[in-house]
Amino acid sequence: MMKVSDSFALTVEMLEKGSIENPSFEADCLFESFFGVDRIKRINNPELEIDFDILKLPLEKRLGGVPLQYIIGKWQFYSFEYEVGDGVLIPRPETEILVEKSLELISGRENSVIFDLCAGSGCIGLTFARLIPDSEVYLFEKSEKAFSFLKKNSSGIKNARIVNEDIFYSDCQKYKKPDFIISNPPYIRTDEIPFLQKEVLMEPKMALDGGEDGLVFYRLISEKWLPCLKEGGFIAVECGETQSGEIEKLFSKVCKKTRSVTDYSGTQRIVIGEK
Ligand code: GLN
Repeated sequence: MMKVSDSFALTVEMLEKGSIENPSFEADCLFESFFGVDRIKRINNPELEIDFDILKLPLEKRLGGVPLQYIIGKWQFYSFEYEVGDGVLIPRPETEILVEKSLELISGRENSVIFDLCAGSGCIGLTFARLIPDSEVYLFEKSEKAFSFLKKNSSGIKNARIVNEDIFYSDCQKYKKPDFIISNPPYIRTDEIPFLQKEVLMEPKMALDGGEDGLVFYRLISEKWLPCLKEGGFIAVECGETQSGEIEKLFSKVCKKTRSVTDYSGTQRIVIGEK
């Protein structure tokens, strides 16, 4: 057993030495997850004894490059918690902007049918399902591994319909016509993948790789899914730094209006189209 104050200092030091960017933030996440001791509790009870051995394996994994979120097994997105782990993309803060902007578009409409394409953990579509109880949300995900997380995350959410299909092959005519299509598809160019951060490389390539020019999924969505969108409906997608112009062009073949929205760092991160 070891005092919480000493073990916390040791954890921060180990993470620092391992070149982890936010060592005290990560140490707090680990302490909360493995010892049930959050920052306030830790500061107010420095003498509290904990079994530091419990953190040995998690720390080893973290220093070996496993993302913190996989070790903890869950992550917050738009103030809800989602289970994550090997085989599913970790929800990102910039994706919260996609949700926020989409919610503005959806609000005021009733009984909306919403499609979340490439749903992964389900963080986007399940957030809509929770916040808009009169909506019906279809979440499409092809990967078996990701789908198992989607299944867990959607349990108990009555207006969520999960579909284990590849959006390249599934037929949108089989489903109700959507009022909204929302997607954060894989958009990294294949040749950029090897240069990603080591933590990101532990996430599924399938969730990151957007093909030779990174735009494969946007093309597919425009050609195959946009025709199913209701007239007066909206599409909103997340995209990479230099892609919004091309995506607006693709969408404008079917949409009457398109626009891009910037993220917190001023990058054009979201493209919206109105049919
Ligand atoms: N929709 C999920 C997310 O935004 C997964 C996206 C993906 O797998 N590309 O986290």
